Amino acid sequence: MTLVSQKQAIVNRILNFSCVDGPGNRLVIFLQGCNFKCINCHNPYTINHCDHCGDCVSGCPTHALSFNQQNKVVWDESLCTQCDQCLDICPSHSSPKVKHCSVDEMLALIRKQHVFLSGITVSGGEATLQLPFIVELFKAIKADQELCHLTCFIDSNGYLAETGWQRVLPYLDGAMIDLKSWQNETHQWLVGRDNHRVIQSIRLLASAGKLHELRLLHIPGKSDLDQEIEAISTLINELPNEVKIRLNAFQHHGVVGEALTWQKCSKAQMEVFYQSLQAKVSNSIMLPSVYI
Ligand code: SF4
Ligand code: SF4
Repeated sequence: MTLVSQKQAIVNRILNFSCVDGPGNRLVIFLQGCNFKCINCHNPYTINHCDHCGDCVSGCPTHALSFNQQNKVVWDESLCTQCDQCLDICPSHSSPKVKHCSVDEMLALIRKQHVFLSGITVSGGEATLQLPFIVELFKAIKADQELCHLTCFIDSNGYLAETGWQRVLPYLDGAMIDLKSWQNETHQWLVGRDNHRVIQSIRLLASAGKLHELRLLHIPGKSDLDQEIEAISTLINELPNEVKIRLNAFQHHGVVGEALTWQKCSKAQMEVFYQSLQAKVSNSIMLPSVYI
């Protein structure tokens, strides 16, 4: 059975094949918009939505940006050279390079390459800010004879409330959740919001058997996870043994502003964090493969 849905998402980017955004070979949909404002964000132009001020239109060297009849800025991908001048101009730290994509359009795209895929992952920005679209997309995939072999994953900052998770859980195969700091004050400072709901989401998804991966960010001297090994390992030891722990090392790629002055996480610093965590938990821990 094929469901028909017109629900739309604001999409920043689609990656046709990825092997680092969940298990196997995955199509990854990056949605625009985030409810965290991480100082260290490595993709800051996915945080805010475009308010159509038009500042970027005349700055585009290839005329890929213009106003439509509704006075909204529209992007012509065929003319875009990805020079990113519009991103540098934008006073809202947003991007005009987004597409509005319906569930049916997304299903058509997935259908073209489904035989090469293990599943799809919705990421961001913060994916769950567009939850109605995700629920409809996952529901349609599960109901489609040709696509139902695909697993449906969400990559999230974990801020979604329990009622939101309950709406998507019936169609969700797994989630990757980021934990950026343990002390609430540090988390507030780093991302602009508290971490209680993040920790609640980790526990909720784990108890539902849907937590695929917990990601821990190490920013030497800024985040506190390396200082809170006891608390972090207590949390990890509550989780099923199958939940993977992925360690992320802070790097400067894509970062703007104050965080560019912060020390990058070196391989040696990450090794110290890894060793102290590994001594206290039995879950498999993955180290970063690249330091740039
Ligand atoms: S990246 Fe932005 S400024 Fe550059 S060509 Fe594309 S739309 Fe124009
Ligand atoms: S992307 Fe930024 S500069 Fe361009 S129209 Fe939108 S808000 Fe204005």
